[in-house]
Amino acid sequence: MWIVTIDPEKCTGEGKCADICPVEVFKVENGKCVVVNGDACEGCESCLAECPNEAITLKEM
Ligand code: SF4
Ligand code: SF4
Repeated sequence: MWIVTIDPEKCTGEGKCADICPVEVFKVENGKCVVVNGDACEGCESCLAECPNEAITLKEM
């Protein structure tokens, strides 16, 4: 499984990760992106490619 984390210091909350993720792992709340469905992550790395601030970390467990 994959562990998805977001650095709130880097995230600017424009939601590109939420738009691209095929399994709706992310949600933007109060101007910051949060992980709401991390268990569903498939490790496709689309969010890493899309994030303009390198705020997302993906780790395989
Ligand atoms: S790696 Fe893919 S499935 Fe996982 S959070 Fe990013 S976009 Fe979603
Ligand atoms: S793409 Fe990156 S900066 Fe944009 S909302 Fe997602 S984590 Fe935040």
